[in-house]
Amino acid sequence: MDQLRFDGRVAVVTGAGGGLGKAYALLLGSRGAKVVVNDLGSARDGVGKSNFADAVVKEIKDKGGEAVADYNSVVEGEKIIKTALDNFGRIDILINNAGILRDKSFQKMSDQDWDLVHAVHLKGAFKTTQVAWETFKKQKFGRVIMTSSNAGLLGNFGQANYSAAKMGLVGLASTLSIEGAKYNIKVNTIVPTAASRLTEDILPPDMYQAMKPELIAPVVAYMSHESFEDSGLIIDSTLGFATKAHLIRSQGAPLRRKPTDPVTIESVKEKWGEVVNMNGARRIDKIAEVTVDLVEKLQEFEERS
Ligand code: NAD
Repeated sequence: MDQLRFDGRVAVVTGAGGGLGKAYALLLGSRGAKVVVNDLGSARDGVGKSNFADAVVKEIKDKGGEAVADYNSVVEGEKIIKTALDNFGRIDILINNAGILRDKSFQKMSDQDWDLVHAVHLKGAFKTTQVAWETFKKQKFGRVIMTSSNAGLLGNFGQANYSAAKMGLVGLASTLSIEGAKYNIKVNTIVPTAASRLTEDILPPDMYQAMKPELIAPVVAYMSHESFEDSGLIIDSTLGFATKAHLIRSQGAPLRRKPTDPVTIESVKEKWGEVVNMNGARRIDKIAEVTVDLVEKLQEFEERS
């Protein structure tokens, strides 16, 4: 297969001073993309600032690539996109990767723990993407990656703030994939699991060694390529493996015996087993299909009763 290249494309990778973002930036830089290596350089809890991005820029340049560092917070996403436009005159790919953790059991979680995690993950992705969107629409091309987490999709003890923000990113990607469709803007979500400072005290040591961010970077790069046509996907990847995740709905059940009966708490209880029975569960792709599905089920129910 011909090598998939990114020549002429400009990519912004947020939080690219280390971990996964660094692997994304290095790979895209090695395949011809001009890369904005953004990183605030904070500690894992979001406190402080440093110039992590410089070493990544140097590595890209040493290998013959083009890159520039950006030290802004994603909360001021417009400044990061400006760095791309000022230095390279365009933006084609935006990988929203910056992240922090402020884990606490729910009752101990402060407003600050909640707000800062939401600011970096969710508001940050909103800010960068909204500013880049203008260019994407004009040029009728854009590739956006949101970064979620299994903690968001499945929940995880001590991560109420993080999981809420990470699931928020899935919702954001779903809507943007619809709004971007006619402008060739594809918006997809990666759910990575990799060795980084966020996971060094969570993953068992032998797994930690094996879970290299470089095994996920090609998945993210492929999803950022001009030949990639899918949008609105959630792709879970680790250890050189990738799967697609999505929400499915059960067939559901009428909550009464016939349309003239009232719905009571007791009738809901009686029907609950059918409501949550996942035999025949399926994906509904568009919000309009929810209404169509409901109308069909109501008709069927009325005909049967
Ligand atoms: P990491 O800590 O190595 O990388 C995150 C980077 O974001 C850091 O370099 C940090 O300085 C930067 N950053 C923090 N706040 C910022 C801000 N306001 N603006 C700009 N940069 C900022 O961790 P990682 O594991 O590589 O995480 C990358 C992303 O992947 C995060 O969104 C994380 O939540 C997500 N994720 C990681 C895993 C995993 O297993 N490592 C699992 C699920 C999700």
